[in-house]
Amino acid sequence: MHQARKRFGQNFLIDGGVISGIVRALAPELTTHLLEIGPGLGALTLPLLTQVNHLDVLEIDRDLVHYWQEQKQKQTLIGLNIIEGDALEFDFQSWALRGKAAKQRSCIIGNLPYNISSPLLFHLISAAPWIDEQVFMLQAEVIERITASAGNSEYSRLSVMLQARYHVEQIMDVPPEAFEPKPKVNSAVMRMIPRRDFDLTEKEWTSLSRLVAMAFAQRRKMLRSNLFELQAELMLSEEELKARAQEITVERYIEWAKILVKTS
Ligand code: SAM
Repeated sequence: MHQARKRFGQNFLIDGGVISGIVRALAPELTTHLLEIGPGLGALTLPLLTQVNHLDVLEIDRDLVHYWQEQKQKQTLIGLNIIEGDALEFDFQSWALRGKAAKQRSCIIGNLPYNISSPLLFHLISAAPWIDEQVFMLQAEVIERITASAGNSEYSRLSVMLQARYHVEQIMDVPPEAFEPKPKVNSAVMRMIPRRDFDLTEKEWTSLSRLVAMAFAQRRKMLRSNLFELQAELMLSEEELKARAQEITVERYIEWAKILVKTS
């Protein structure tokens, strides 16, 4: 019997309704190029395998990788490909490009380890141009931050950067009882679809990242102070100088990032 490991964020899904809700949310087709991050003991893996011809799963825990290799010998798990590795270092870009080359819909799914969720979401951005959809279970509080709009108290650097790259939408609330062991926090499921209107160059993206970090450095302070160094280049209006970082829309931050690159 596998002992859940805290350091790998192992909270296994046991609620059939939640499991089928997540699989339905992605609704993969037989030919979808699909990757599951962290298959664990297969709560999502097995139902997904009944829907696609081929499923890649990426798992860091060596014991679980062995478990899946054994399962493959014991039963027919046709189409299952186990990859041992750390999602924070995995080359999602090459993986996604393979799907696009074969003209397949490329999707990533997972009940993510909560301890690495933010860095993992940033790491996944490199593959966004070739990804069609991502469906992830995360800590509810993190999803609230990611999906918050300007003006909301949860609106943060994470909201701006991820909404600049994806359409994000919370699709389900999940209580701790849906897992074994039960996590101490509430969970939720989120859909992320890369924005087709995304047109930032690498320089503009770096500028956005720097600008947003500066703007949110001291949340209570006005932009007059947080963006002091950039106010001349950005030609901030009197109203904007008095605003706080959480009042500025994602689109306005994007415009500013483009201005900074143009004037540099
Ligand atoms: N999908 C299973 C479920 O829903 O029951 C397990 C989900 S559990 C929350 C997270 C899974 O991600 C575990 O299998 C864990 O070992 C794996 N994991 C943790 N850190 C990882 C990493 N850096 N790279 C790949 N997998 C990781």
